[in-house]
Amino acid sequence: MKKLANKIALVTGGSRGIGAAIVKRLAAEGATVAFTYHSSPEKAEALAQEINANGGKAQAIAANSADALAVTAAVEQTIAQFGALDILVNNAGIYVGKAFEEHNLQDYEDIMAVNVRAVYAASLAAVKHLPAGGRIINIGSNMAENAVGPAGTLYVMSKAAVHGLTRGLARDLGSKGITVNTVQPGPIDTDMNPANSELADFLRPRMALSEYGTGADVAGLVAFLASNEGQYITGAALTIDGGFNA
Ligand code: NDP
Repeated sequence: MKKLANKIALVTGGSRGIGAAIVKRLAAEGATVAFTYHSSPEKAEALAQEINANGGKAQAIAANSADALAVTAAVEQTIAQFGALDILVNNAGIYVGKAFEEHNLQDYEDIMAVNVRAVYAASLAAVKHLPAGGRIINIGSNMAENAVGPAGTLYVMSKAAVHGLTRGLARDLGSKGITVNTVQPGPIDTDMNPANSELADFLRPRMALSEYGTGADVAGLVAFLASNEGQYITGAALTIDGGFNA
């Protein structure tokens, strides 16, 4: 039997990048996977169709993570449609990279809404339904522990907040047999952080492995945490960064 057979998962921001890789991997492990998207409806529908055509089960849901009510509704839609929720992966995220003097308060609102408030909102909606053995997996960043350089202050702050939420929630939900963890990727080749950019040339020599990772690398770790094999890991930050933070 596949290791996530009979499990229902919801992945936020599953239309592209790391989120899409997680959707594919969870579906390949046998889970039914709902996932949200915002600005990439075609990519989201194509991904769902690809999985459904290959014998898996996936459903794309339009939900802007900047809108906490839309995130709550996506959790509720998943449960209404599939009857349960076992695995919540809070993946949707944005990056605001600019010098601190150029920031304004709207930048704060924008990044915190998607990177932090949406994680809180989805978790809040999910905990009423997650069974014993349930999982919350938050996608943070290795930058929560290593700011790397200037111009990332808001992003670093938001991802440190994600892990704070993880730690507190792990304590709140432990007695229910639900685990909560942060997966902290380092440089992963996506639209957010392409491996063929000037930034990549700056980052590569700072990594032990000197190469970008892939969404599939991150998805493998998420699938492990989601499975029974991950049952004794909670409140942890698992960094997957090619040794960037070593
Ligand atoms: P991408 O920008 O490549 O993809 C972002 C995904 O999130 C898309 O599916 C996008 O969907 C979705 N998304 C963004 N904003 C919203 C929103 N307002 N509402 C709903 N969905 C949204 O990013 P990555 O795949 O690289 O990043 C995924 C996660 O991994 C993020 O949390 C990021 O911070 C984290 N991360 C990435 C690293 C990297 O090097 N790539 C390193 C460390 C962490 P749509 O297009 O439909 O709006």
